[in-house]
Amino acid sequence: MPSAVVVGSGPNGLACAATLASRGVEVTVIEAEGEIGGGTQSAELTEQGLLHDVCSATHPMAVSSPAVIAPGLELERHGLEWAWSEVDLAHPLDGGGGGTMLRSLEATAAGLGAAGKRWRQVFGPPSQSYDTLTEDIYHPLIHFPRHPLRLARFGLPAALPATVLGGRLGTPEAAALFAGVAAHSYSRLDLPLSSAIGMALVCSGHAYGWPVAKGGSVALANAWASVIREHGGRIETGRRVRSLDELPGADAVVLDLTPRGVLEVAGEKLPSRVARSYRRYKYGPGAFKLDLAVQDGVPWTMEAARRAGTVHVGGSLEEVAAAEAEVNRGRMPQRPFILVGQQYLADPGRSRGDLHPVWAYAHVPSGYGGDATGVILDQIERFAPGFRERIVAQTATTTAEIEARNANFVGGDILGGANTPLQTMLRPRIHPVPYWTGIPGVFICSAATPPGAGAHGINGFNAAEAALRTL
Ligand SMILES: Cc1cc2nc3c(=O)[nH]c(=O)nc-3n(C[C@H](O)[C@H](O)[C@H](O)COP(=O)(O)OP(=O)(O)OC[C@H]3O[C@@H](n4cnc5c(N)ncnc54)[C@H](O)[C@@H]3O)c2cc1C
Repeated sequence: MPSAVVVGSGPNGLACAATLASRGVEVTVIEAEGEIGGGTQSAELTEQGLLHDVCSATHPMAVSSPAVIAPGLELERHGLEWAWSEVDLAHPLDGGGGGTMLRSLEATAAGLGAAGKRWRQVFGPPSQSYDTLTEDIYHPLIHFPRHPLRLARFGLPAALPATVLGGRLGTPEAAALFAGVAAHSYSRLDLPLSSAIGMALVCSGHAYGWPVAKGGSVALANAWASVIREHGGRIETGRRVRSLDELPGADAVVLDLTPRGVLEVAGEKLPSRVARSYRRYKYGPGAFKLDLAVQDGVPWTMEAARRAGTVHVGGSLEEVAAAEAEVNRGRMPQRPFILVGQQYLADPGRSRGDLHPVWAYAHVPSGYGGDATGVILDQIERFAPGFRERIVAQTATTTAEIEARNANFVGGDILGGANTPLQTMLRPRIHPVPYWTGIPGVFICSAATPPGAGAHGINGFNAAEAALRTL
């Protein structure tokens, strides 16, 4: 029986290990921290009985991920249950209006008024063919496209700066709605390709919605761990790997680490050209997280935001673009872009009566050492007057604390690497099999590989396929 060791138990490490185990490989997972899951953990961070997601909250790409649905994995058999809020995403603007995205393309277009027709034209075709499109966009860029025409229909708008594509939608509401989704890339929105991640998230949203995992994102980690154990795999926690030499003998090693981590553990074993690429790999801005216990929820002025699982707080397209430009220059904006999660709307079991867990984080410069609590509260209060009075408890997590809990989040970069135009397309280096480190039998599977960040496990699944080809 072939064997593999996976270092790191984030969603990609676990997805990789579960895929290998389900294909007959004897698997051992080694995790540095006391808990498995990396970016898929949940805990009572404010008040007893209030369940918060520590990192990832919403799962637009996990729901259709091969690492979740492929034969042999089928995480729903292992306790994973999706839950959808009535409104997937709201983006409030000053004055009480804003943009709303629903799973239904038609209902979204209808709600966007004059911009509805354009929204349908841009996002309709790739949303409707999302499942075939993923046969291309979930894979490394260097491959023969399986569906070239569909890919082109997606790729042409995706190549535009988000400020251009957003501006073309025709109304301030639609422009802001798209800018907020594009800002998940943490990139400057005036650069080419800054629409790519926004396009993928809008299209997956219209295909599958933006669900949360019932019982918290940890349900994903637990389900992958259950697949691994079902096949006799082992998971060891509390052991930080410092060198490849200390690993048990195995036919393949897969590292759920970013290039910096791979450089640390592989050292001189990496071919010099790969080491050079990994050293050049860029990390992006950071996150400052704020978890809140809020009595009766956030009193958003915009009615749809009160029913939305995710709320993007940042104002107009211009304002979001300016805030993203600032954090990419290493400067803290006065009004940063903030993501607010109200997962309890889809999954009421996370609340205690009318006291609700609210999850929020601001985009801040890499390694930001200040306290962003005040600006986060000010930004939310701007669109939800009276919000501050409802806060019963709060817990802030700085960029340094985020990195201390997970070495992959360098400087608080929760995406495992900057989405520069080059790294959006080709990461962590230019190679047809970017999962291979250049050392025979050693692979990298983290968010630093295609298709990039997210708690969907696709990178881990692809890396497992690459490893299986050599076993
Ligand atoms: C605040 C926040 C909000 C987010 N929101 C979302 C969201 O809503 N939706 C979404 O899809 N994504 C979200 N993300 C991003 C998502 O969590 C990451 O993209 C995802 O976790 C990356 O998975 P990974 O497996 O590549 O690495 P990680 O999840 O970072 O896991 C890496 C694991 O490797 C371990 N490790 C590191 N070094 C070593 C070592 N030397 N030895 C052993 N183990 C090691 C770490 O402890 C960690 O457990 C969010 C992240 C954060 C922090």
